Amino acid sequence: MIQITMPLNFLGSVYREIRQALVDMEEMFDLLHQPAEIIDAPNAPDIHVTGGTVALKNVEFHYDPARPILKGVDLEVPAGKTMAIVGHSGSGKSTIGRLLFRFYDVTGGRFEIDGQDIREVTQESLHRAIGVVPQDTVLFNDTIRYNIGYGRDGATYDEIVAAAKQAQIHEFILGLPEGYETQVGERGLKLSGGEKQRVGIARTLLKDPPILLLDEATSALDTRTEKSILGALKLAGEGRTVITIAHRLSTIADSDEIVVLEAGVVVERGTHEALLKAGGHYAQMWSAQAEDREAAEGDDAAA
Ligand code: ATP
Repeated sequence: MIQITMPLNFLGSVYREIRQALVDMEEMFDLLHQPAEIIDAPNAPDIHVTGGTVALKNVEFHYDPARPILKGVDLEVPAGKTMAIVGHSGSGKSTIGRLLFRFYDVTGGRFEIDGQDIREVTQESLHRAIGVVPQDTVLFNDTIRYNIGYGRDGATYDEIVAAAKQAQIHEFILGLPEGYETQVGERGLKLSGGEKQRVGIARTLLKDPPILLLDEATSALDTRTEKSILGALKLAGEGRTVITIAHRLSTIADSDEIVVLEAGVVVERGTHEALLKAGGHYAQMWSAQAEDREAAEGDDAAA
């Protein structure tokens, strides 16, 4: 990252854009292993987001033709609603996130936002419409103010503070030796996983995208931190379309819709209550995770 971006340092805003793009991609997809090869269609217009309805229409996808990953997935998240995608490891959950961000193109079917095929709009406008809160927020070696403010070019100090308050990290920042001017990152103050994630949430709030993609990141956090992060995420999701790629079911039980993916196929969908009642895959996963939840609650009570 440093080697790539340093020589670009004098290119001003171009540099900032490239740096932003690199971090967005790196945060979610690991830049080195998955290079972007997607280019905009000639004369592609910017996307026009009206409400933020996200739809997958018979989406098929493979990384390698010999091994289909998504096998005809139909999903729709109405504007302003929340959908959680759950399923065993390797079922294709994160792949859906990568396709939404157009890190890859579908190999069959369509991926739409407000009726527009995302292959037919500029990637820059697409990326502006989607906020990603990744599993692990990457910090720059810069001030905490910069690290939050970078969510939107030209954000004022007051806007940065407002985002930090919403992400519930303002009080923590005030307690740092130099407040918002404290240096963080590898060469500055190292933040915990939960603190970094709150910085990521604040950044995304500042960006103010109509669509939020949450790559559930709470599994490495203790229960108490997880609860407060979930509160911040809930606030961040208000009034937006939210897609959560989830591992722990307890965190997504109140989603408007939960989708269970198995080997690239949607095998169940519904609310938490309906899926429990149905007694299928979700209900099995829920009871398998019950033990973990009880252990975590026990730890919390003891703390
Ligand atoms: P997890 O819960 O473990 O994160 P997931 O459901 O998100 O899993 P994906 O990351 O979407 O699963 O991966 C789906 C399948 O695609 C996996 O079998 C994975 O090995 C494969 N896969 C993922 N990325 C690539 C890639 N860049 N090249 C080839 N195969 C890949």
